[in-house]
Amino acid sequence: MSTTLQSFIAGRWVGQGPKQALRSAINGKVVAHTHEEQLNFEEMVAYARTTGLRTLLNTHFQDRARTLKALAAYLMERKEELYAISAHTGATRSDSWIDVEGGIGTLFAYSSIGGKDLPSSNVLHEGPPMRLGQENHFIGSHVLVPRRGIALHINAFNFPIWGMLEKFAPSYLAGMPCLVKPASATSYVAEKAVRVMMDSGLLPAGCLQLIVGGTGDLFDRLEEPDVVTFTGSADTAMQLRSHPNLLRRSIPFNAEADSLNCALLAPDVTPDDPEFELFVKEVAREMSAKAGQKCTAIRRAIVPRHLMDAVGAALTARLKKIVVGDPAIEGVRMGALASHAQQADVMDKLALLAEGNEILLSGRDGFTPKGEGTENGAFFAPTLLRCDRPLQQTQVHNVEAFGPVSTLMAYDDYEEGLHLATLGRGSLVGSLVTKTPALAAQAVPTFAAWHGRLLVLDREAALESTGHGSPLPKLKHGGPGRAGGGEELGGLRAVKHYLQRCAVQGSPTMLTAVTGEYQRGGAVQESEIHPFRRYFEDVEVGQSLLTHRRTVGEADIVAFGGLSGDYFYMHFDDVAAKQSQFGQRIAHGYFVLSAAAGLFVSPAPGPVLANYGLETLRFVTPVAIGDTIQARLTAKRKIDRPLREGQANAGVVAWDVAVTNQRGELCASYEILTLVAKKGEPS
Ligand code: NDP
Repeated sequence: MSTTLQSFIAGRWVGQGPKQALRSAINGKVVAHTHEEQLNFEEMVAYARTTGLRTLLNTHFQDRARTLKALAAYLMERKEELYAISAHTGATRSDSWIDVEGGIGTLFAYSSIGGKDLPSSNVLHEGPPMRLGQENHFIGSHVLVPRRGIALHINAFNFPIWGMLEKFAPSYLAGMPCLVKPASATSYVAEKAVRVMMDSGLLPAGCLQLIVGGTGDLFDRLEEPDVVTFTGSADTAMQLRSHPNLLRRSIPFNAEADSLNCALLAPDVTPDDPEFELFVKEVAREMSAKAGQKCTAIRRAIVPRHLMDAVGAALTARLKKIVVGDPAIEGVRMGALASHAQQADVMDKLALLAEGNEILLSGRDGFTPKGEGTENGAFFAPTLLRCDRPLQQTQVHNVEAFGPVSTLMAYDDYEEGLHLATLGRGSLVGSLVTKTPALAAQAVPTFAAWHGRLLVLDREAALESTGHGSPLPKLKHGGPGRAGGGEELGGLRAVKHYLQRCAVQGSPTMLTAVTGEYQRGGAVQESEIHPFRRYFEDVEVGQSLLTHRRTVGEADIVAFGGLSGDYFYMHFDDVAAKQSQFGQRIAHGYFVLSAAAGLFVSPAPGPVLANYGLETLRFVTPVAIGDTIQARLTAKRKIDRPLREGQANAGVVAWDVAVTNQRGELCASYEILTLVAKKGEPS
């Protein structure tokens, strides 16, 4: 029995009367209806701006990262409910895996990115700061803060869960209440996912609202701090991004639109190479996964002219083996398109692509989807075209059939192949299959200018490759030109998209307070208590220790050389050292580092549990025999971390270390990272 879907606005589910029937892609039966009630967008926006923003900004980056993790775990427990509903979209289990577990995995990834890279506040410092005056009284840096606006996410029909979560995760981390509008055709899947998210009780009120159906006057209600993120067709992207209210108020609009992604087989590959098989496999996989309804799918397979027949035969043979039908049936590898509308659209686009090109494989070759009722479903046979004159047949670079359709096209020399790759006029992803590093390097300047992501595939990468079609949470997703010109994912970059960047100038003391990170030259707090004897909660940014001094003698250099085995001439050969730029023997940089540790550590057991690395190390002024060094250790930055099973309950403290000589010159500069225990907790 079909249900009427509901929108979730201002904390309640809205919608009772059925409107548009949404049909199963497998057998055409009605799965659900959108609702007929008009939404009150004024109320929705007001709720996000008041309750949503207030509850979100009562939390900080680290709190939100923790919530994402808990939410991901909760969704994972209920994933089978999501798989069950996803089946109506025509997806196989592995297609749904991309949507369901790919989406949940993205939540996990962003919880980890947030936990590792973001502070326990709502100010993200994007350093390093730069000196703006000679004497270090005036410096400048950048901070990123929540925009204090709302994020409107408009999603495509093909990945109703992943598409929603990959936008929600960074927006939520950034502290933006989200209004999510799924594509109507598969809104029943998104609605179910939002219900599960709400059932979790983990999300603060107002941080997520759902729109089933149209957006009404919502675009007129958007304001300067808001953001729109869109996935769908280039036409809709153009229509929405040019909305007068968005233009007038400079509201960012991030678009990820359809693109004619390519895979290029380099001329060095022969049919006997494993790379040949890899190319064929990758193209076939991208044509059949999600029945080709992936924004990243390979639409154009560009191959050397002399290999056209061989690739065509291998690809056709592979595609013929793909069993199409109801994914519930054992052995079925490809399901249906998401709707009859899509089926009709792909048919129309295929007719355009076929003009002047040969069809190597199509539905005419005895295509009958497996399963009961599938004659009423939205199935489409894997279809391969051959284009021998791709420089003349320009439709193969312009027309996207959003289904299991791809065109094989020939090139005569490598530069021409690379040129063909650019004729998509901007793509999300391209693959280059080659066994020659120099050919990869030659391709990149052309390829990278027109693509958001590039997979260079050879037999070695294939051992672990995640594939052409998989956007990864930590790598950028989005391409130039036709692909929409936007950027999503890419780790912290995605979170920054939802934050506002501001340059801040002032004294080091002021910038320490503003950024929450000690800036060298700023006021420090010194006390009798050694900074290493404080528990995590008691460490404050700016707490500092100026150590006693130590004069470096020749014996130190000899001993350190003996211990490390480092007898570099600069430390041991008086003649060569005198002829060098330093004019004398100098101490090993690593000795200075070790000696500084000896100056500043507090040796007895205490809250500092481990030193796990150092960053930004620079040896600035060399330390010569007879120089006297001294270190200043200052708490620079704190990162709180939740308790993890099997690990000590501790936070991260980064310490600024400046080693100076008797003239006050900076000899070594770096940041050390320590794990510092929290009070009264098991360590
Ligand atoms: P659309 O661009 O029509 O729709 C994308 C989203 O925009 C949907 O949520 C849709 O909602 C919404 N939308 C459409 N018009 C408006 C409007 N005037 N105001 C507000 N929201 C609007 O794409 P389709 O989903 O129909 O797919 C069409 C084509 O787009 C595909 O055939 C394919 O070529 C491409 N595509 C690209 C994808 C990619 O990832 N790059 C993904 C999916 C499709 P509603 O469904 O309610 O109309």
